[in-house]
Amino acid sequence: MNARGNTRGFETLAIHAGQEPDPVTGAVVPPIHQVSTFKQDGIGGLRGGYEYSRSANPTRTALEECLAALEGGVRGLAFASGLAAEDALLRTVCRPGSHVVIPGDAYGGTYRLFAKVYAQWGVEFTPVALGDPAKVRAAIRPETVAVWAETPTNPLLGIADIAALAEIAHAAGALLVVDNTFASPYLQQPLALGADVVVHSTTKYMGGHSDVVGGALVTADEELGARFAYHQNAMGAVAGPFDSWLTLRGIKTLGVRMDRHCANAEQVADLLSRHPKVSQVLYPGLASHPGHATAARQMKGFGGMVSFRMSTEAEAVKVCESTELFILGESLGGVESLIEHPARMTHASAAGSPLEVPADLVRLSVGIEAAEDLLADLEQALA
Ligand SMILES: *Cc1c(COP(=O)(O)O)cnc(C)c1O
Repeated sequence: MNARGNTRGFETLAIHAGQEPDPVTGAVVPPIHQVSTFKQDGIGGLRGGYEYSRSANPTRTALEECLAALEGGVRGLAFASGLAAEDALLRTVCRPGSHVVIPGDAYGGTYRLFAKVYAQWGVEFTPVALGDPAKVRAAIRPETVAVWAETPTNPLLGIADIAALAEIAHAAGALLVVDNTFASPYLQQPLALGADVVVHSTTKYMGGHSDVVGGALVTADEELGARFAYHQNAMGAVAGPFDSWLTLRGIKTLGVRMDRHCANAEQVADLLSRHPKVSQVLYPGLASHPGHATAARQMKGFGGMVSFRMSTEAEAVKVCESTELFILGESLGGVESLIEHPARMTHASAAGSPLEVPADLVRLSVGIEAAEDLLADLEQALA
């Protein structure tokens, strides 16, 4: 049983949580309430609590309840993008002078938010290799309001021990925030391991079909949830009704999709590990990965993201431009396989910073196509 008192299985919650058949028509899928305002029966006489769609919209509520159930939280909030969710979280917990410990290989957009936006407002941050708890403890200051973790990380697939970080953060009176985008709640549930807030780019595995941009915050703390909801309304970067509906539709199949993403990624990692032109494979499912034991303990599967290194930048670029099935593109987590060169694409903005990624690195988002087709495509691109 999770914090919400749900005893139902994950796949059941994904299909039903927050999604009772419509009381008016019996429609089994929540309607897209594409509307800005709601009729009041007398001043303040709200039907179902809805008055204006920035504050709340029934389609978004369905998504938010489903998100809370899947992460085992009490409150879910849906935003226009993952970065909008991160912004609302930081605006809620930081003041000028606050300090946050962030991953040494944080998602590039998260790093940019700290380095280029929040730094201007006096919020300080320290990038730390989260795989080493002693370094995290050493980076904490009296002003530290949060430890921000990402596991697995993008694009190096680093693993952090969520329970260990929760202890360190809480001993210092700080929150533990976990960006759970790469794992999804099907593979990993940070709140149950002691995290205070889960952040998502629902653009990725949750939506799952590369057709919508969105973000979310989930917490198991009622009071924190109410503060997030206040900022969500006060700042206004909410998920629209159609985007909420698309995300909910994607979530219904999250479990079966993740099983296939994991199975395909394992085969891809195995092929790459045996390939003479590949110098290193970064996949937490491999016994050689330094975070393998921690990942095996806190994740139900190792996910669909695989990164690998060639020997030179030119070779990495050539592989990225030689696949036929893997589509060259940014983003991840959709049903279709994608390939990219982080140093020149998703992480180009990290060049020259402590978060710069190796130039010979290639990142794969392994989709749910037939595994033999994916393996054949990589074989020919590496030939
Ligand atoms: C994509 C991504 C984000 C940002 O989400 P957007 O929906 O693009 O704003 C945050 N964290 C991780 C790990 C991501 O992959």
